Amino acid sequence: MTAIARHLAPRPELADPSDTRDTGPRPGSPLWIYLAGVITIGFTALFVAQFRLGGYELAQLATTMLFWILLVLVVLGELRPVMVSSSAIVGGTPTSTMFTFAVLMHHGLSAAVLVQAVAVVVSGVLHRRSWHRIAFNIAQTTLACTAAGVAFGAFGIHPRPLETWTPEGTDIPAIALAGLAYFVVRGLLVCGAVALHERKPMIRVIRTSIAPQAMVYGALLGLAPLVVVVMEHSTGLVPLFVAPLAAVYFTATLSMRRDHQAMHDSLTGLPNRKMLILRTEEALAEAREHERVGLFLLDLDRFKEVNDTLGHPVGDLLLQIVAHRLTHSVRPGDVVARLGGDEFAVLLPSIRDGHAAKEVASRLRVALTEPVRLEGMTFDLDASIGIALYPDHAPDFELLLQRSDVAMYMAKESRAGVEFYVAERDRNSPERLSLLGDLRRAIDRGELDLHYQPKVSLEDGQVEGVEALLRWWHPVRGPVSPVEFIPLAEQSYLMRELTQYVIDKALNQAAQWWHDDLEVPISVNVSARDLLDSGLPEQLAAGLTRLDLPPHAIHLEVTERILMTDQAYSADTIRTLAALGVPLALDDFGTGYSTLVRLQRLQVDEVKIDASFVRKIGESPDDARIVRSIIDLVRSLGLRAVAEGVESDAVAETLREMGCHAGQGWWLAEPMPAAEAVVWLRNRLRLPSLTHEAVKTRS
Ligand code: C2E
Ligand code: MG
Ligand code: MG
Repeated sequence: MTAIARHLAPRPELADPSDTRDTGPRPGSPLWIYLAGVITIGFTALFVAQFRLGGYELAQLATTMLFWILLVLVVLGELRPVMVSSSAIVGGTPTSTMFTFAVLMHHGLSAAVLVQAVAVVVSGVLHRRSWHRIAFNIAQTTLACTAAGVAFGAFGIHPRPLETWTPEGTDIPAIALAGLAYFVVRGLLVCGAVALHERKPMIRVIRTSIAPQAMVYGALLGLAPLVVVVMEHSTGLVPLFVAPLAAVYFTATLSMRRDHQAMHDSLTGLPNRKMLILRTEEALAEAREHERVGLFLLDLDRFKEVNDTLGHPVGDLLLQIVAHRLTHSVRPGDVVARLGGDEFAVLLPSIRDGHAAKEVASRLRVALTEPVRLEGMTFDLDASIGIALYPDHAPDFELLLQRSDVAMYMAKESRAGVEFYVAERDRNSPERLSLLGDLRRAIDRGELDLHYQPKVSLEDGQVEGVEALLRWWHPVRGPVSPVEFIPLAEQSYLMRELTQYVIDKALNQAAQWWHDDLEVPISVNVSARDLLDSGLPEQLAAGLTRLDLPPHAIHLEVTERILMTDQAYSADTIRTLAALGVPLALDDFGTGYSTLVRLQRLQVDEVKIDASFVRKIGESPDDARIVRSIIDLVRSLGLRAVAEGVESDAVAETLREMGCHAGQGWWLAEPMPAAEAVVWLRNRLRLPSLTHEAVKTRS
């Protein structure tokens, strides 16, 4: 075999990882009974064929060169099936079929089944197939040959090893009928095994596999009579048939690869989102009344740490190990897919009830927690799994995925590991869901805008930066406030995309300004979810490098409330961000429950005091006391205090007296579209530092 051929041969990773057929059926199970039945009948047919033939004729045949050439070709063909689809169900068609069928026509049934059986054993041993599978393959090919032999017999054609038969043009009906019999018997026997193995309806297995298989079988069986004619004419010419076969083989393998690539993840070989959608939709269409369809969303905990500290190659290896463990912890017919990053999905096409689903999820977690040894180090993996069931939780794929995502997020937050979707804990009402759909489209179409609100020093009126705030103009509802859609997005997988979108836009804006000598940092709000192992620091680092910006061109704001939930994970990301040199602010301070200790541990540079306290410092002595003590606390930690919601001159003055560094609010400047912000900034930057009086009059 040439190097190219070796390269194109289906490699192990191309085989569907969910194909665990070699594990062997449980004795007494329907599949076991089926296989045992087929094997018994098949081997009986094999022996009957040999006895009817008689040893003498076989021995005579074995002395001919032709016999050995054919045997080699059949063995080679068996080793190199034409893959018509990457799906385990459809699988490949052995190219040996052409030669076996030729032997059947020329030398009769007994020789054909013998040659075929030898080839199956050789290929089975070389591919390290289990014995039950080898035996089944011998049985099914023998039975298919027998069916074809019977069909020839019906036309009065009874070739024997030494009484050969060579077809004429008029024999085409007989050949067609025999070919059909061969195909039907073989197809039915294999589909039966696959249906039982994957617990799928037989009819569906046949439907998905028949068309591609029929084409290849048609081509192979159709060529067989020509092989016979050549065999009759000159033995030496027979090996020439390898050339067209090889061409068919390479073309099919190539197209199968393309097919496979479109539907699979290249790193792990697992099905991708596209394939998952397909399989889920099939499962939903076939769901039986008393059963459920389960969709799990699984996210590795702390995977980012590995990626960050040990690099991508180790991270990739780890993902491959995870993929392997997951596929070996589910039943045949279940689908493990990789959605991207460290996010995997598992589809259980039919499961008894929630209890059973939970059992599977727990099993998956146990499989993952087995420590991994890599590069001399041991890793403890863990994952959070969210479960959504059809029809209990959602009627279609989109919603199932979304709800398993909500559940996964809950599992992460509660540290429970596995959680079911619970409608009461999901803040997504139908209206919110439709809004979420609209938001997704708005992101795709780039309909969301950023407005920029300046942050101004209360001491000298200098502009310290601008905060990027999302603005969404809904085609029907008009403007939708981020207060409404951000919490919605935060409960779904959309948040990642939304933040990426905002960061991209802010980075591009910063690049435009900074390269135009308008060196104003842009603050971007990130949500709690963005800090749960996301690729946020990477995205930022890559963007800053690409646009040739210093790290302090972008600031990040994280709301104080995140401290209440997932401290450990978030703190990791925060550390990575701090290491990048991107300054961090703790937003909405006063609305959460930060302790002094936590505040000190977090590597933030700035604390933004929530507008709800700031607005009323003029009227409420309590609020004034709170704000004053926050400012004192922040200053004592060596951090900067920024007041949000500065709505009046009096408030700004009070804050300045309290020692607050900077302010943000309508009185200073409202959030503005980029074009307006440029004008505002240019005007402001032309001015020298201002006294408080001047801050006021300028604003
Ligand atoms: P935030 O980060 O605390 O942003 C400040 C909010 O105060 C903004 O509301 C701003 O328009 C508003 N504001 C400005 N000046 C005044 C004032 O003088 N008085 C009062 N009462 N409010 C003032 P907005 O734009 O509606 O955003 C609300 C929240 O939505 C933001 O609060 C932030 O948490 C979130 N948000 C906005 N854009 C994004 C984003 O791109 N990503 C994320 N994750 N969250 C965002
Ligand atoms: Mg903010
Ligand atoms: Mg705020």
